[in-house]
Amino acid sequence: MVMSTARASTIHQYCSVCKDNFDMEVVKQGSSKDVIWLKCPGCQGFLPHTPDESEELVEENARREAEREIAIEDLDTEHAKEYSGEGIFDVGDVVHHRSWNDFGKVISKEKLPGNRSTIWVQFLRQGRVQLLEGMQ
Ligand SMILES: [Zn+2]
Repeated sequence: MVMSTARASTIHQYCSVCKDNFDMEVVKQGSSKDVIWLKCPGCQGFLPHTPDESEELVEENARREAEREIAIEDLDTEHAKEYSGEGIFDVGDVVHHRSWNDFGKVISKEKLPGNRSTIWVQFLRQGRVQLLEGMQ
């Protein structure tokens, strides 16, 4: 009885010939070490694996995830403070920007030269915006 078969490693990849995704068997072929060749179970054709692209995709998704730091459900919009330049805000405050009709969350504060105070707000639609606060 065979307890385990030596299963060839597979990589999930799209085949442009079959126009479908398959778990493709990794075949050691090709002279370049940088290229991994895959055998498509659909058309039995060989095609190079493109690890760089998929890694970039992962990074791209991670970056998007980081940018999408807040969602509307994360914000207590009922208790949002109306943004105005005269107002003073704290990190974590939910603010509503009337002209943009956009909600955001104060993520940090920053002092600018000339004793001006600013807040960085991550808005749902506008993204990260620096706004003045405490203007006289
Ligand atoms: Zn194929």
